[in-house]
Amino acid sequence: MNLDVDPATAAFRTEVAGWLAEHVPAEPLPSVDTAEGFARHRAFEATLAAARLAVVSWPARYGGRDASLLDWLVFEEEYHAAGGPVRVGQNGLFVLAPTLFAHGTDEQRDRVLPAMARGEVVWAQAWSEPGAGSDLAAITSRAVRTDGGWLLSGQKTWSSRAVWADRGFGLFRSDPDAERHRGLIYLMFDLRAPGVTVRPIAQLDGEAGFAEIFLDEVFVPDEDVIGTPGEGWRIAMSSAGHERGLTLRAPGRFTAAASRLVQLWRDAGDPADTALADRVASAWIGARAYQLHGYRIASDAGHTGSSGAESSLGKVWWSELDLALHQTALDLLGPQAELRDSAGGAARWLDGYLFALAGPVYAGTNEIQRSVIAERVLGLPR
Ligand SMILES: Cc1cc2nc3c(=O)[nH]c(=O)nc-3n(C[C@H](O)[C@H](O)[C@H](O)COP(=O)(O)OP(=O)(O)OC[C@H]3O[C@@H](n4cnc5c(N)ncnc54)[C@H](O)[C@@H]3O)c2cc1C
Repeated sequence: MNLDVDPATAAFRTEVAGWLAEHVPAEPLPSVDTAEGFARHRAFEATLAAARLAVVSWPARYGGRDASLLDWLVFEEEYHAAGGPVRVGQNGLFVLAPTLFAHGTDEQRDRVLPAMARGEVVWAQAWSEPGAGSDLAAITSRAVRTDGGWLLSGQKTWSSRAVWADRGFGLFRSDPDAERHRGLIYLMFDLRAPGVTVRPIAQLDGEAGFAEIFLDEVFVPDEDVIGTPGEGWRIAMSSAGHERGLTLRAPGRFTAAASRLVQLWRDAGDPADTALADRVASAWIGARAYQLHGYRIASDAGHTGSSGAESSLGKVWWSELDLALHQTALDLLGPQAELRDSAGGAARWLDGYLFALAGPVYAGTNEIQRSVIAERVLGLPR
């Protein structure tokens, strides 16, 4: 197989790398899970959008370049290799936007997508509830019909970046008498509307990366309903394919981390420690395998980055790879790995490790993904 890219993609790679070399801040931005860090990340999104690099695979009408999935993979490789800031708008960009492309109206796309691409409106995902995580169909938050729209009441939880985000999207029960996978509605709502209370939850690193969202008769106009009331489950499952598939966690993220790990091994590894050398090599091979998997999908004409149940395979792969990669780095650093202000980038590996621990949980736990793979990809009995 010829893995060389065509001249147009090669030229695009050069353009992206050049732009990033000029614009990625030399010092990492403050954490995105702080007020100042959130604002700085939002400003970076606007800079990216001004260069039409925020959403390269979207249609030009919404701020993109109509680029192919392959060009998007190339963009991600360069972005992570250059150490680009965390994408503060990722839940909107990688979960809500594909949902609007598939199920929204032209009016919704025109209204929502350009502002999302510029980072002017940052979106939080409001799916999970205290009694509904893996079993998402158990949600009890309600949408009750009213004049010109719906009234939302209930509690959402674990909503990433909701502390500083502007708007939320999520699932609500619109028909309490229907079978539990039916009777759900998919809505967008304002996190600052009357009746909304957002309460921060501190993560393992002490920062408020999540929030609980309490809703008390929050009005949502009909124009913010995605698809048909009652069809929320089907729409959410198509969003979930994107969340688990390539779009949320592109291979470039892991090839960049694997390259940093190989460099760490060259700088600090003990050549006599062949067991650790094997783990470094295996992390690099795992990242490269995921990259090739991405190229395979991108060369499949008409592919959009989501592959239904098969996206569960990618989710298990990248989340376990990320953990192994960061664990290997910490073992390589030894006691230094615990010193947050030591030289040599140890803090970045430790922060990365703490976040990698969440990989097997968010976007659907790996136990659930393994059941999906068993039943829907391999056709095994329940
Ligand atoms: C970093 C991070 C970010 C997140 N961001 C968001 C967000 O922005 N918006 C949002 O809505 N949610 C978000 N979540 C929540 C996430 O979607 C849930 O944590 C996840 O779906 C699991 O649900 P739960 O926590 O209720 O655990 P539970 O569903 O209670 O699961 C507990 C354990 O039981 C296992 N288990 C449950 N059911 C089964 C089964 N049928 N078979 C086998 N094992 C099972 C699970 O695998 C898990 O190990 C985030 C979570 C994390 C960690």
